[in-house]
Amino acid sequence: IIELDDVRKTYLAGSLSVDALRGITLRVDEGDYLAVMGPSGSGKSTLMHILGCLDVPTSGTYLLSGEDVGSLGEARLAEIRNRRIGFVFQQFNLLPSMTAWRNVELPLMYAGVHRDERKERAVAALESVGLGNRVDHRPGELSGGQQQRVSVARALVTEPSLLLADEPTGNLDSASTEDILGLFDELHAQGRTIVVITHEHEVAARSARAMLIRDGELYAADPMDAATTHGVTA
Ligand code: ATP
Ligand code: MG
Repeated sequence: IIELDDVRKTYLAGSLSVDALRGITLRVDEGDYLAVMGPSGSGKSTLMHILGCLDVPTSGTYLLSGEDVGSLGEARLAEIRNRRIGFVFQQFNLLPSMTAWRNVELPLMYAGVHRDERKERAVAALESVGLGNRVDHRPGELSGGQQQRVSVARALVTEPSLLLADEPTGNLDSASTEDILGLFDELHAQGRTIVVITHEHEVAARSARAMLIRDGELYAADPMDAATTHGVTA
């Protein structure tokens, strides 16, 4: 569903230009579970922003389900972000005053889904991540792993074709990390398409396939090889 061809991203900051991505070619098929590893400043978040249609390439092409993202206007990009991509972030990004199901229904509200249907679907999404008994809890009343589960439910409630996760376990202890990795295993088994960005070898090791990004270039990597996580090998 993802086809990147020679994608480059150059940032201009004052008189300085930074080549954050330098010719990325990547294909992700439906049902794939890809981990992208790489050191700080290597271009991971930049790649994530492009994959998530939060930004467009400076040059090269990005086809998402056959649609040329670089040629689209902001309105269509926003629609793709809302309906076809589910985002999971390191900092959960949940609204603290709202219950779990209220947080999960938000993307449906933006998508214009009717009120009654929203609650039903939000609760179903929470059940699907094992939180059927926590729908009325607020984020502060949940563990870190459970909060991240809520954010996965929120990401999935619109039935997106792609789940993008940027350092999803970066704020979790090892038990909660295991909890989220187990959930990703389940989603992968259900045929979801997942791209996860991570520093952590244990996360990459659970994916179906790993790539290493270094200085804006992408290399195939062995997810089981700890050295790749630290950028020692390419
Ligand atoms: P980290 O692991 O620290 O999050 P990263 O791999 O996500 O790093 P990016 O955030 O993609 O790295 O940054 C890649 C390069 O692009 C860096 O050199 C960074 O300084 C530069 N960069 C990122 N965003 C911008 C921006 N908005 N304007 C200018 N330069 C930027
Ligand atoms: Mg980053």
